[in-house]
Amino acid sequence: MNMPVHNVPAGVMLALLEELAAFSAPGPGVTRLLYTPEWYRAQQFLQERWAGLGLKVRTDEVGNVYGTLTGSKVTDKVILTGSHIDTVVNGGRYDGAYGVAAAAAALHYLQVTFGQPLRSLEVVSFCEEEGSRFPLTFWGSGNVTGLYNGSERGSFADVDGVTLGAAMAACGLGGIETSGVGDIAATEGGREFTSSPARRDITAYIELHIEQGIILERNSQEIGVVQAIAGQRRYIVKIGGTANHAGTTPMGLRRDALAGSAEMLLALERSAVAEGDPLVATTGRLEVHPGTPNVIPGEVQFTLDIRHSEAGNLERFCSGILEEFAGIAGRRGLDLEVLPLLATAPAPMDKGMCAALEQICEKQGKSYRSMVSGAGHDAQLFAPLCPAAMIFVPSRGGISHSPDEYSSPEELAAGLEVLTSILYELAYTEN
Ligand SMILES: [Zn+2]
Repeated sequence: MNMPVHNVPAGVMLALLEELAAFSAPGPGVTRLLYTPEWYRAQQFLQERWAGLGLKVRTDEVGNVYGTLTGSKVTDKVILTGSHIDTVVNGGRYDGAYGVAAAAAALHYLQVTFGQPLRSLEVVSFCEEEGSRFPLTFWGSGNVTGLYNGSERGSFADVDGVTLGAAMAACGLGGIETSGVGDIAATEGGREFTSSPARRDITAYIELHIEQGIILERNSQEIGVVQAIAGQRRYIVKIGGTANHAGTTPMGLRRDALAGSAEMLLALERSAVAEGDPLVATTGRLEVHPGTPNVIPGEVQFTLDIRHSEAGNLERFCSGILEEFAGIAGRRGLDLEVLPLLATAPAPMDKGMCAALEQICEKQGKSYRSMVSGAGHDAQLFAPLCPAAMIFVPSRGGISHSPDEYSSPEELAAGLEVLTSILYELAYTEN
C-alpha cells in the first residue's frame, strides 16, 4: 500500500481549535449552543477560514457547513469527514471542534501536498449533536441522514419557548441552500422546508474525536479505532409500596419502596460487573416519595441507562435485569412498572475501514487499540447508510463535557496523521 502521508503539520488544526474556543457564551469553558450568536459566528468563521484554505464552502438549510475539495475522477460522490460545532453548557474546547478542525487541516494538507484528489473530499461542521439547547440530539447529521423530516421545527422549543424553527430563522436558516462566504444571512426569512431528504452522495464518513473516556490514557495508547458505537436503552422504573409510620410499623410488615429499589440497584451493578465490558449500566436519578425522614417510602422512581455494542447482548441483559427486578418486587410485595424511554441500536463501524486504520497505525508506529464508544456520535447515523469509521485520541483523566477537557497537541497531531492517511487512501489512490 502506498503510504506517503507522514508528519502532517498540526499548526492549521491547532490554530483553528484555538480560534474556535473564543466563540463562546460567557462563563467557564466553551458554551456554544445551537443557533446562538456565538454558534452563528463560529460557523461563519469556519466558512471564511475554509475558503482561505482553498475549500469550496457552503451551508445547508439547517446550518451544517461544508468545505469541499472536488475530485478529478469522481465528482458526484463525496468522502465526508468532520464532527459537530455545538457544545454542552460549560463544555470543553475539543469535543466536536477537534474533528472539525482536524478534517479541514487534513484536506488542506492533502491538496497542498498531492493536488486535486481523484474522489471528492468534504469536511463538515455539523450544526448540532449534543441536545443542549433543544430536547433533541444529532440535529445536524440527523438532517443529512434523514432522521428528521422538518416537523420538529415547530414542535421543539428551548427553555425560553423559542421554537427550533424560530431559532433557525434568527440565523437566516430554514430556507434554501446557499454557497459562498457569509451567505447565511442572505436566506433570512426564507421558506420553511416540510421535509428534509437525506443526502445520497456520501460514500464514506470518517470522524476524528476525543475519547471522552480514560481507556487510552490508562493503557498509554495513542489511537483508538472504534469498532462500534454502543446501543442504548433507557427506562424509568416505578416501584410502589406503602407509605406508613416509621415508628409504629414493624420491619416484617413493611412494603418499603426504597429498600426494594436499593436491592434492585445492587443487583443491577452485580449483573453488569458479571457481564463485563463493554456493557455499562447506570441509575443516574432516583426520586423518593414522600421523602420524609419519619415515613416509610411508598413510591420510588429511578432511571436506567444500559449500553452495549452488541444488540443481542444488550437485549439479553435488559430482559434479564428486568426479570430480576420483577423477582425482587414479587418477594417484597412491591408493585413494579417499567417505562421504556429510548432504544437505539448499536452502530457497527465499517470493518474494512477499521482494518485500514489499524494498518495505518502500525505503519506509522502508533500504539492503538480496538474499542467501543460508549458515547453517541454523529458517525452512528451514517453507519446504516455508508461505511463509517471513528478515530479516538486520549482525553486527559478521561474528562469531557467540562472546561477541564484536554488532549495534548502531540495527541491531537497523532490523530490528525491517521485521519489524513485514511483520507489519502480513500480519495487519492486507485482502489
Ligand atoms: Zn462530540
